[in-house]
Order: sequence, then C-alpha cells, then structure tokens
Amino acid sequence: MRALFIEQLGGPEVLQVRELPLPLPRAGEVRLKVEAVGINFADILTVRGEYLTRTRLPLVPGMEYAGTVEALGEGVSGLQLGQRVAALGGSGGLAEYATVPVTSVLPVPPNLSAREAAAFPVSFYTAYFSLATLGQAREGETVVVQAAAGALGTASIQLAKAMGLQVIALASSEEKLQVARSLGADHAFLSGQKDLVATVKAAAGGNGANLVLEVVGGAGFQDSLAMLAFRGRVVVIGAASQEASSMRPVELMKKNLSVIGMWLTSMMGDANAMREANAFLSSVLENGQARPQVGQVFTLEQTGEAFEFIMSRASTGKVIIEP
Ligand code: NDP
Repeated sequence: MRALFIEQLGGPEVLQVRELPLPLPRAGEVRLKVEAVGINFADILTVRGEYLTRTRLPLVPGMEYAGTVEALGEGVSGLQLGQRVAALGGSGGLAEYATVPVTSVLPVPPNLSAREAAAFPVSFYTAYFSLATLGQAREGETVVVQAAAGALGTASIQLAKAMGLQVIALASSEEKLQVARSLGADHAFLSGQKDLVATVKAAAGGNGANLVLEVVGGAGFQDSLAMLAFRGRVVVIGAASQEASSMRPVELMKKNLSVIGMWLTSMMGDANAMREANAFLSSVLENGQARPQVGQVFTLEQTGEAFEFIMSRASTGKVIIEP
C-alpha cells in the first residue's frame, strides 16, 4: 500500500510516499481503508518534532481520518465490515490502509461524507470541550472565536450557536469573515483592525465577552484578557502565531478572570467528558445544526503543499488529504 513515511524531522521536504506492507490488525484493533484524512496544525508540528509529545521515528503521520472497516482483529465486536467510521489519535492515517485500536474509533453519522467525517473529530471535540466542559459557557453568553474561518473556528461557531451563545468571530481577511457570517456568527471583525478590544466589547453589549477561545497567542493574548467581562474566561487552545504571550497573574484579579488550558489528548482520557461530548455532537450533527467544513482537498503526494497551505493562512475549513 502507499503511505506517507518520515525518517527524519523537518518541513515538507522530509515527507516521502512509499510502498509499505499492508498492516495487520492486532487483537483489539481494526484495519480501515482510509478514505480521507484531516490535516491539523498538530500534524505539521509532529513532523517538525515541535509538538507537545515526542515524535518517534520512523512514522506514518495522520492522527484524524475516516474510512471503512476492512478487517477486524481478535476480540473486536460491535463494528461491521464496510461500515464508515472516523479514527482519532495516534498516527498512521496518511496511507491507503491504517490499523487503529477500536477504542480510538468513533461512530460517524450516516449523513456525513467521508471528507466531512475526516474533518470532524479533532475540531468538533476540541470546540465542544473548550466551550462547554472547560469554558462553562451558558446560554445567552458571548464568545469570541479567533481564526474563525479555520477548521476549529468553523466548528466553534456552529457549536456555540447550537448552545445558544452570541458569537463574535475574528479572522484576518474579509473573505474569512464572510465564511464566519455564513455559519451564523453574530458579529465578525478583522483580527488586525484598530481598536479591536473596544469594538469587541461594544458588540458584546459594552461590558465585554464572557469567553474567548484563544488559538493565536503572541501579543494578542493581552487583548483577549482585555475584551473579557467580569468573571470572563480565556480558554487557551493553541498559539498558531508561534509567538510567546506574557501575563502577570495579578492582572486576572480585578475582573475575576480565569485562564484555562485545553488539550484534546488529555480530555479524551476523561470518560464522562467524552460521553457528554458524544451525546451533544451526535445530536447536532444528525439534526443538521452543525456540519464539518471541508476546505481544500489534496492527494497523498501533495501533503507537503497541504502543510504549506495551512501555514500560509490561506486555508478555510479543514484541509483534507485523499490517499
Ligand atoms: P486552522 O484551520 O484554524 O488554521 C490556523 C489559523 O490560525 C489560520 O488560518 C489563521 O487564521 C490563524 N493564524 C494566526 N496566526 C497564524 C500564523 N502565524 N500562521 C498560521 N496561522 C495563523 O487550524 P486548526 O483548526 O488546525 O487549529 C487552530 C489552532 O487550534 C491551532 O493553534 C492549533 O494548534 C489549535 N488546536 C489545538 C487543539 C488542542 O487540543 N489544544 C486541538 C485542535 C487545534 P487567520 O488568518 O484568520 O488569523
């Protein structure tokens, strides 16, 4: 089978497509015929060796994908051959076939295409945990969604609206703001505009927002704190700018603010939180209140271009590879 293979860390130049043996599912695993792979910032950082976990080489990258069940390892039950599922976590997705522990397999609503199913796990679970579990969003509150036209941003807008929140979307171009508006954002502003903090506070009714989903980092983190209302929360999900932020904890005191860290890998180990997320996500996906947004689609050979496309900030929705 064809697979993307890396033997050394680096940028797109270390990605090679190779013929590898068909992987055999071990006990507790299934083999999927991969139909579509979602590309995340985390994949790019993993290949560079700059992610939160150490990259073990050699590696077939790809942590989020959709495919059909093609072979069952010993002891696996509850899945049918030919059934479309999604896989979340680990690696190995950027290949024609991948083996995955059955515990990393997620059911996929039948109304989703393979591309949509591959665009769903990372962004939608992250958005849910950030808004509901960690951000403690309550109906009627206002949330600021950064990088709002991206994979996580488009998921966050839709879930926030399904939760009854007011959404203020931020993004770097008019075209991206249009994407955010089309998904239901109540207000949409250019992230680089002058007086951003005052504009967001005014849109939130004067006092400020209740929640900011922080994905950009850098100097803008100070703005995220400044645009919050009394008892506001910033959920720190990422730092796409790759720039450091600074904060003096005493700055949080005056408005009783909270800064909360969010990492999907850790949340996935919380069985209760996963159950709650599954119930909410399957209901909004099945009733059409939310739909994963598929962006540009690339082939396995074009994975390097896909990485560069994301890093150039040109992408909207989830960038997909079809092996
Ligand atoms: P996106 O599809 O949102 O793409 C990234 C976006 O970040 C860009 O489109 C751009 O939007 C914005 N951005 C701002 N500054 C830069 C920069 N210097 N270089 C590139 N992009 C920049 O990606 P994802 O949905 O995959 O991820 C969004 C963020 O969320 C990332 O930081 C990622 O690491 C994080 N994340 C964290 C998770 C967790 O478990 N904590 C899980 C999933 C994602 P614009 O042009 O509008 O500013």
